[in-house]
Amino acid sequence: MFDDAIAALSTPPGEGGIGIIRLSGKGVIDTVQQIFLPATGQELSQRRGFTLTLGWILDRQGNKIDQVLVGIMRAPHSYTGEDVVEINCHGGSIPVRRCLQRCLEIGLRMADPGEFTKRAFLNGRLDLSQAEAVIDIIRAKTDRGLKLALLQLEGNMGCIGAIEDQLLQINALVEASMDFPEEVGDLDYDEIRSLLQRTLLDLNQVITAGIRNEVYREGINVVICGKPNVGKSSLLNALLKKDKAIVTDIPGTTRDVIEDYINVRDIPVKIIDTAGIRATEDVVETIGVEKSKKVMQQADLLVLILDGADGITGEDLDIYHNINRDRLIVFVNKEDLEEKKISPEELSTLFAGVRIIHGSAQTDMGFEELEAAVEEMVLIGALPCDGMEIMINLRQKEALQRCRAQIESALQHLGQVSDDCLSVDTWGALETLGEISGKTVKEEVLDRIFHNFCIGK
Ligand code: GDP
Repeated sequence: MFDDAIAALSTPPGEGGIGIIRLSGKGVIDTVQQIFLPATGQELSQRRGFTLTLGWILDRQGNKIDQVLVGIMRAPHSYTGEDVVEINCHGGSIPVRRCLQRCLEIGLRMADPGEFTKRAFLNGRLDLSQAEAVIDIIRAKTDRGLKLALLQLEGNMGCIGAIEDQLLQINALVEASMDFPEEVGDLDYDEIRSLLQRTLLDLNQVITAGIRNEVYREGINVVICGKPNVGKSSLLNALLKKDKAIVTDIPGTTRDVIEDYINVRDIPVKIIDTAGIRATEDVVETIGVEKSKKVMQQADLLVLILDGADGITGEDLDIYHNINRDRLIVFVNKEDLEEKKISPEELSTLFAGVRIIHGSAQTDMGFEELEAAVEEMVLIGALPCDGMEIMINLRQKEALQRCRAQIESALQHLGQVSDDCLSVDTWGALETLGEISGKTVKEEVLDRIFHNFCIGK
């Protein structure tokens, strides 16, 4: 339990229906009473947890600042595990700011980013992976991202607990043979080997599933490229279902990089339209072309647009030869037109091995196929994960991989090194795994995790 009580605005700043100020800490319900006038006459301290009380927040002189609804949650039955008060003000910047100011005047401290969730973790309400799931829920960009984060909040990382149990069992066997050799005899290396191998299998399954699902949290960048006038901006607009980029038949209209987000089969996709790549004297267009080349290099996937009614030119091939083919989809556009100047033979010769889709930015033709190709290419190389619904972040992945290396090292040296040395790896693996739930995590790592949160969470 912490000594001080904290306060923060938990809703986004600006105008809205309501603004919620959240307070947490020992005795905070009694503290708020000093600035709260209940409409019913019943003091907050007499109210039970999970109740709402209508009233007013008062200034120093006892004047009403705003009419509010105050929710109280009593320790330990609250998000943080402490007494929590949520003041629902009218959602304007002045009422919210003045009510928050009053809370600070009566001794509360402004909360750090993520401090409510950090307290929840330190008070044992959530483990670290659950705390991290909170931020993933807030930032989820697709339904699947949300579902995976919710599962994590509900303790879906339990499979890691099972692996920890296995490592604990291995460590117990190793320790027992070192500490009580007479009673338990020599270490049975065959038994340890098979236990380590099973642990490694389970761990690999978690890592595989986590990597496969990574994309649902992180999303990908898809860059639309091509020479001027092939229909890049039209495709962007059609995918976004809004007029974001200017479309004209004048080459060189898009001079800057334009981007927005879409949801492709539950994968958050940042879709980026680039200036048409061509040699140009125009200074502004040149800057656009350079910027485009840069985003193309950083793209997870590239969609090279060809104009089906115009034919393949040297300009198209120049772009094609300068991009990574492993991440490429070719979209032959303007297929709605009668005029067809690109033959299938030409495509298969020039773009051998590349995924080719025929379509039209004007009629949405080929879009389903384009979405399927994006999903397929993103998940390519990601191994099937037996339906394991787990999402891991970079920190967790790194810990899992370190744990795997320690188990592999233990397996490799089993029987060749002293049991003492063996236990360095086996205990190390257990400790590394503990970083995921937060059992063994260092203070500075905690600080880094929670500083990624928003204020008020
Ligand atoms: P960008 O320079 O590559 O971004 O090309 P734009 O999107 O500005 O399109 C250039 C011209 O081609 C415009 O006149 C569009 O209306 C036209 N256009 C784009 N896509 C299609 C399509 O699928 N079919 C037809 N018929 N015209 C298209």
